Amino acid sequence: MTNPTDEARVLDAVPTGLFIGGSWRPAASGATLAVDDPATGTTLVEVADAGPEDGMEALAAAAAAQSSFAAMAPRARGEILRRAYELLMERIDDLALLMTMEMGKPLAESKGEITYAAEFFRWFSEEAVRIDGGYAIAPAGTSRFMVMKQPVGVCLLITPWNFPMAMGTRKIGPAIAAGCAMVIKPSELTPLSMHALAAILVEAGLPDGVLNVVTTSNAGAVMEPLIRDGRARKLSFTGSTAVGKKLLEQASDKVLRTSMELGGNAPLIVFDDADLDKAVEGAMAAKMRNMGEACTAANRFLVHRSVADAFADKLAARMEALVVGRGTEEGVQVGPLVNAKSREKVVTLVQDALDKGASVKIGAEPGDGPGHFYPPTVLTGVPLEARLSHEEIFGPVAAITVFDEEDEAVAAANDTEFGLVSYLFTENLTRALRVSERLEAGMIGLNTGLVSNPAAPFGGIKESGLGREGGSVGIDEFLETKYVGIAFGG
Ligand code: NAP
Repeated sequence: MTNPTDEARVLDAVPTGLFIGGSWRPAASGATLAVDDPATGTTLVEVADAGPEDGMEALAAAAAAQSSFAAMAPRARGEILRRAYELLMERIDDLALLMTMEMGKPLAESKGEITYAAEFFRWFSEEAVRIDGGYAIAPAGTSRFMVMKQPVGVCLLITPWNFPMAMGTRKIGPAIAAGCAMVIKPSELTPLSMHALAAILVEAGLPDGVLNVVTTSNAGAVMEPLIRDGRARKLSFTGSTAVGKKLLEQASDKVLRTSMELGGNAPLIVFDDADLDKAVEGAMAAKMRNMGEACTAANRFLVHRSVADAFADKLAARMEALVVGRGTEEGVQVGPLVNAKSREKVVTLVQDALDKGASVKIGAEPGDGPGHFYPPTVLTGVPLEARLSHEEIFGPVAAITVFDEEDEAVAAANDTEFGLVSYLFTENLTRALRVSERLEAGMIGLNTGLVSNPAAPFGGIKESGLGREGGSVGIDEFLETKYVGIAFGG
C-alpha cells in the first residue's frame, strides 16, 4: 500500500490552474471542478474550471507562439522532447501514483502507461530531425518540382480519461516535433496527469505559449468556439465516435485538418489450430489491460466450437485469480471503473446479454461500493444480437460466442461499424495472413493481445477514425505539404 504522506505530497506538487501563455492561473470566473478518486469516491483536489473566455485566451497564446516556434531548429525541438522523456522516466513513481489516484488503474499499469507515454516523446524527438522533402523532374523535362513539409499551424487536442498521459503525448510529441503550438483539453475526470506533464515540458524548455492546457467541466462550450475560430488549423481528438462525429462537423466550418481516434469493438478470434495458452495470454492482455477500459479492448471473443470450453475454462481461471482493489494497494491487478456511469453501463450490458440467453461462468456480481468496482467476468453463449456484441463494454467482461467456420468468424468480426483492431490466434500461417487481409480493422494483433507501440501506426478505419498516431506517419498528421513548381530551361 502506498504511504498516505506520498499521496499528499504528490497531490500537493501538481499544478491546479489553467496553463495559458506559460503561466498557471485560475479560471477567469474563479470556478473550480473536483477531481475524484474512483476507488473511494472522495475528492482528491479541486482544479480550475475553464470557461469559453479562458479557452479563447489559450488559443490566442498558441497563435502568438506559432511562428517563432515553427522557426526553432528541429534539433532544439527534438531536444525538448528528449529531456521531457528523461524527466518522465526519472519521476515515474510519483507520476504513476498520481495517475492511479485520479484514474484507478493499478500502479503497475500506471507505470506501464507512463513508459508508453514517454516513449512517444523519445520517438518524436528522433522524428523532429527527419522531416524531409523532395525534388523531381517533371515528366516533360521542362520544369522541376520541389516539395517541402511545414507545420500545419496551431492545433487543438482533446484527450480522454482512460490513458490520461499517453493519449496526450501521442499528440503533443508530434506537434512539438513538427513545430506546432497547441491548446490541449484533457478529460475533466483525469486532468492531473496532463497538468503534471505540462510542468515537465516547461522544465524541459518548451517556450511559453506553445502548450496551453484548459481543463473544463464544459468541454463543448469551451472547445466549439476554438474549433470554429479559424486560427487553429488542426483538430486531433481521441474519444468516443459520437463526440468525434460532432467535432468533425464543427471542424468542417473552417476546413480544419482532423485526426480522429475513436471507439472500437474489437473481435478476438480463436481458431481450432491456435495455441490455447498463447490465446489465453493474449486474451488477458487484450481484455484486462486498463480494466477493459481501452479502445483496443477485446470486446467479442469468437471461439471455435472445438476449443471453446477449454478456452473459457482457462480464461476464467486466470480472470478469477486477479486481485481487485484500490490501485495503490500492493498486489492489486484490477482497479475500479472510472465512475458510476461506466459501472452502470457494464451492469446493463451484462444483464441484457443474460436476458438474451448468455450464461455466467464467473463474476457478474458487482458489490455495492464504495468505489466503482466491477468484478472480472466471463460470459459464455453470448448471442450476436446481445448489445455487448455491438457496443463497447469498457469493463472487465469477456463475452464468448462460438463459431464453426472461418467465414462465419470473419463475417461476425466485421459485422460492426467500428474497425480499430482485431485479434486472431492461429498457428496456421496461411490462415493467419488470409484472415488478416479479410478483417476490417486498422490494426491486427496476430497471436498477441497488444498492438500499441509508439513506433507503429496506431489508428482505425470505418467509424473508428481517421489518421494514424505514432510510427513514421505520426508526424505527417501535423505537417502540410507544399509544392513549388519551378520553370527550368528555355
Ligand atoms: P468522450 O466522452 O468522447 O470524451 C473524450 C474527450 O472529449 C474528453 O476530453 C471529453 O471531455 C471531450 N468531450 C466530450 N464532449 C465534447 C464536446 N462536445 N466537445 C469537445 N470535447 C468533448 O470519450 P471518453 O468516454 O472520455 O473516452 C472513451 C472513448 O474513447 C471510447 O469510445 C474509446 O474507445 C475511445 N478511445 C479511443 C482511442 C483510440 O485511439 N482510438 C483511445 C482511447 C479511447 P470530458 O471528459 O471532460 O467530458
